[in-house]
Amino acid sequence: MEKRWQYPHRRWNPLRQSWVLVSPHRTQRPWQGEVARRSVPSGVAYDPQCYLCPGNQRAGGARNPAYEGISSFVNDYSALLPDSPAVSDAPASPMLVAETARGLCKVLCYHPDHSLTLARMTRQEIRSVVDAWALEYEELGPLHWIEYVQIFENRGEMMGASNPHPHGQIWSTDFLPDEPAAETAAQQQYLARTGRCLLCDYAAAEQAEPIDQGRLVFENDHFMAVVPWWAVWPFEVMLLSKRHAGAMPEFSADERDGLADALKRLTTRFDNLIETSFPYTMGFHQAPTDKKDHPEWHFHAHFYPPLLRSATVRKFMVGFEMLGMPQRDITPEAAAERLRACAEEHFWPRE
Ligand SMILES: [Zn+2]
Ligand SMILES: [Zn+2]
Ligand SMILES: [Zn+2]
Repeated sequence: MEKRWQYPHRRWNPLRQSWVLVSPHRTQRPWQGEVARRSVPSGVAYDPQCYLCPGNQRAGGARNPAYEGISSFVNDYSALLPDSPAVSDAPASPMLVAETARGLCKVLCYHPDHSLTLARMTRQEIRSVVDAWALEYEELGPLHWIEYVQIFENRGEMMGASNPHPHGQIWSTDFLPDEPAAETAAQQQYLARTGRCLLCDYAAAEQAEPIDQGRLVFENDHFMAVVPWWAVWPFEVMLLSKRHAGAMPEFSADERDGLADALKRLTTRFDNLIETSFPYTMGFHQAPTDKKDHPEWHFHAHFYPPLLRSATVRKFMVGFEMLGMPQRDITPEAAAERLRACAEEHFWPRE
């Protein structure tokens, strides 16, 4: 372990404007790297019970088309509705404020094959998903009432994914949700103060670190994968575009290939880390679609995997973390080192 970071310290997250407590002395035991249990998807390409497989009937009654590439539809059990009636009652107290929340929740199936994951799809297949994500943002964002488009994926039962079929979600809202709101404020303030982009400066700072001691996991011509300085989750990774761009539709064909490549390599390394289908929540943070200019916004993806030491040992956000602030044991530098050591050939090759 690097000497400078062997004692408890706090690290500043300039993007979220918050702190994380790092307690590396708690992990004096060496990395076991044990493979507790190989946990891989079922291996069946078609599951008659799956509500996302081609041709199957969904719980809401609709039938999926016999899709061959990608398929998207409005979620049968959406958390938000486009036509929620306005909250008209004046609050009985300023302590009891409510506002109308409208939105549209969609599901996007990445592939007809039930057994696949991003990690086991080809770069070309992932590139089609990148194009589909960009198109959703392009179609939903301009709607006059949509202020934010959140594209995300929950992978694995541990993260509450109810179905292993390769798919993600797109929730678009008539308000700016808290996380992107906090990042918008931080990026706006940084631009106003320095005249520069916060994440362009952060990317430069990461690239200036010596590769064997820093937090960079890998990079290609257009994207870099880094365990952020302020990571909270053990193997949290941020994908950053090297060019300053606010959203996916701005990416060239080459850059979209670069994003597909980065997603392939990152998810493969995750799976190889403990030879399991690595659970995570991941999502893209892009410029709000509130019809204002957002020169401050820099496109990125967050990957938040919960696993710590094995396929069954996960990190919980409890105790001091719920009441005080987030805390981690393994340093981001040590996590990056372990991810750098992982192969980019998947441990479970696809036939
Ligand atoms: Zn399925
Ligand atoms: Zn930037
Ligand atoms: Zn973000």
